Amino acid sequence: MISPAVAIVGAGPAGCYAADQIARKLPGARIDVFDRLPTPFGLVRGGVAPDHQGTKNIVRQFERTFQKPAVRFLGNVEIGRDLDVAELAANYDAVIAASGALEDRALDIPGEDLPGVVGSGRFVAWYNGIPGAADLSPLLRARSVAVIGNGNVALDIVRLLGKDRAALEATDMARPALEAFAASPVTDLWLVGRRGPAQASFTSAELAELGELPRVSIRLDAAGLPPEPPPGLDEAAARTVARNLEILRGFAALPDAGLPVRLHLLFHAMPVAVTGTAGAERLVLAPGPEGPRGRSPGNPFEIPADLVVTAIGYRSRPIPGLPFDDSRGIIANEGGRVAPGIFATGWCRRGPQGVIPANRADAIGVADQVVAELAASPGEGRPGPGAIDALLHARGVETVGFPGWKRIDAAESARAIGRPREKFIHVADLLSVANGT
Ligand code: NAP
Repeated sequence: MISPAVAIVGAGPAGCYAADQIARKLPGARIDVFDRLPTPFGLVRGGVAPDHQGTKNIVRQFERTFQKPAVRFLGNVEIGRDLDVAELAANYDAVIAASGALEDRALDIPGEDLPGVVGSGRFVAWYNGIPGAADLSPLLRARSVAVIGNGNVALDIVRLLGKDRAALEATDMARPALEAFAASPVTDLWLVGRRGPAQASFTSAELAELGELPRVSIRLDAAGLPPEPPPGLDEAAARTVARNLEILRGFAALPDAGLPVRLHLLFHAMPVAVTGTAGAERLVLAPGPEGPRGRSPGNPFEIPADLVVTAIGYRSRPIPGLPFDDSRGIIANEGGRVAPGIFATGWCRRGPQGVIPANRADAIGVADQVVAELAASPGEGRPGPGAIDALLHARGVETVGFPGWKRIDAAESARAIGRPREKFIHVADLLSVANGT
């Protein structure tokens, strides 16, 4: 077989795992991994909470993939802006979209457009220093913050808001966000779930971390906690729910220590509106049949919220030239197949569910399909990297290769004092460090 050329769009976990699997299975294949950012690793750099450094160790494995001669990183190249899908399809024997899910889902309630209401995608991108989100300064005046959603992203946000400067300095949170968090006058955090504690999608270790915040008292009504998981769950889910309920009972039993920040856990509270004059001031909630206690079902009540963060899931960004399933917010595909020679993997294939190992399994499955297809019909051996380099050069696109990323990595580490890294958060700075431009 002529050595095939494969393009992967997105250098996050799914893209890296797919590249690695193809490099293993098809020695000799030329694999180009594109990313719109000058930096690789997608949500490991831009999504994983900055105080969960252990989770980020996975990048060591991804770096080994980029050190293989067959695999190139091409950062600062956006498909749809610098290259289009037709050009990829013409130059590579297979194209794999692994572009993740970057857009916030909408709540679709009145007041959602008020200043002071922000989606977790933008909020997390801001504190993680993703270029383009650097200027969001949503924390400056908020005393009471409502975080909507009962998933791990909501937990990340609430936990970080509960941390003090010393704890934040030990993270790689972007500097402007760190300063805003540290100066935040927040006194009340509200974690708002539209369903009950047994329906929350928290994982137990992450939920337990809320109990370890030295300046936060948790307010939770024990009477609203079911004694055991509901019937009908599979064994693993029942175990997680039982453990979550045990953790929540522990929170409810804690004495009120009068700490500077109160964290209120509200369940069965459906957001129906955000109100305020110049910006968000109150979140209006409709209680479901089971609570919160003292609220009659369906009778809306308000909580103060001068910042509302919605952490209710994500949608993928359409890639021009690829079919999009608008109702699910994913690239339209059947089992990873998008069109002849074009595939999708990770969150852009199946939606924003599951942790990094789930994307590994997904990427390996799709990469194996690609390998099988290339083996069955080897094609004519498309021009691949050389032709694409010429196109990018002609268009004046300043790409960042893996050595450029290593220069960014080294510079961010070198300027970090007592922190894992001090991120560069503007494209111009990243390019200048990567390429000396
Ligand atoms: P998620 O786990 O799907 O949680 C989304 C939450 O939003 C759910 O509680 C959902 O409630 C709620 N929701 C959806 N629409 C809503 C609406 N209109 N009004 C009110 N609430 C609404 O999503 P995520 O937290 O964004 O996390 C995405 C994935 O990343 C998950 O697989 C998560 O485990 C993973 N992740 C993992 C970690 C970690 O391991 N530390 C950290 C962050 C993220 P319903 O259940 O009622 O729909």
